[in-house]
Amino acid sequence: MSLKTENVQCLIIGSGPAGYTAAIYAARADLKPVMYTGIVPGGQLTQTTDVDNFPGYPNGVMGPEMMEDLRKQAERFGTDIRFGYVTSVDFLGTPHKIIVDESHTIYADTVIIATGATAKWLGLESEQKYNGFGVSACAVCDGFFFKGQDVAIVGAGDTAAEEATYLAKLCKTVHMLVRRDEFRASKAMQHRVLNTPNIIIHYNSDTKEILGNGKNVTAVKILNNVTGIETDIPIEGFFVAIGHTPNTEIFKGWLDMDETNYLITQPNSTKTNVEGVFACGDAQDKIFRQAITAAGTGCMAALEAERFLASRELQPEVIKNSEEV
Ligand code: NDP
Repeated sequence: MSLKTENVQCLIIGSGPAGYTAAIYAARADLKPVMYTGIVPGGQLTQTTDVDNFPGYPNGVMGPEMMEDLRKQAERFGTDIRFGYVTSVDFLGTPHKIIVDESHTIYADTVIIATGATAKWLGLESEQKYNGFGVSACAVCDGFFFKGQDVAIVGAGDTAAEEATYLAKLCKTVHMLVRRDEFRASKAMQHRVLNTPNIIIHYNSDTKEILGNGKNVTAVKILNNVTGIETDIPIEGFFVAIGHTPNTEIFKGWLDMDETNYLITQPNSTKTNVEGVFACGDAQDKIFRQAITAAGTGCMAALEAERFLASRELQPEVIKNSEEV
């Protein structure tokens, strides 16, 4: 089978805020970036409704609209945006070899990884039904819409603890659903939760169903897995904070990752352990996970790619050499 092959200076994998911001900077620096969008062009924000915390939108913006704006801005400076999914990489030699859709081979002098992360969901039908209509996987993004109301959050890790205390500042009551009889979160975070009066902790509690009126969430049905007692808690908002999975599977064996598969970058940098390969956005950030922080690291990645290319003389022959690897 003859495979289509091409060489690019800068390949961007992923099309969330990190990828598009990297594209804007790389294109303006004349790196002629090629971007592969992945299966969900625009990333996680295309699955949200209002975005009120991204600077520059005084009246807020819908997630899909914002991503469309970012796409147009990246295209305006000449980014070659393509729908496609990177199926494997080979970072052994330079340029770096990337296979798209198992059929197209790209040799890239620099690679910017902006593949993001995927929120874990409980897997309930009602959770998907009310996603964006009372159900959210991001308290910082959507907590504001439940000001003065009663909400629930499921999870017991650092994210859930952090988000519960964030919600407690805005909402009347936060019901925290912990499936075991203890937290996973650090002691410091637990301390904050336990000392916040309007957080009610429900230990040994499984989420059975999110109840609603067809339009909005009205309650959550929980089951105490010790007593077997089911309870409906009236709420307007339901937050899922049971962890994220970084989309980094294809980089296993090539790039350094932490124990939860987030890519490790050098301090104050987007450099990975492979020269010319940079990582930005949620694929390397498990702490902040905001569109604006992703955009910030996307900018850093493009600037570092530009500096990397400027600092070395690239030999066109290496392309040939890599094909033999
Ligand atoms: P974690 O994987 O640490 O925690 C996930 C939590 O969700 C666990 O308490 C788990 O319960 C619970 N959970 C998982 N599945 C279900 C389910 N189906 N039903 C109910 N509960 C469920 O994820 P986090 O996002 O909290 O944290 C990820 C990493 O990021 C951690 O290393 C954390 O320390 C770090 N982090 C650090 C922060 C900081 O330093 N400020 C802030 C946020 C995250 P169980 O405990 O029973 O397994």
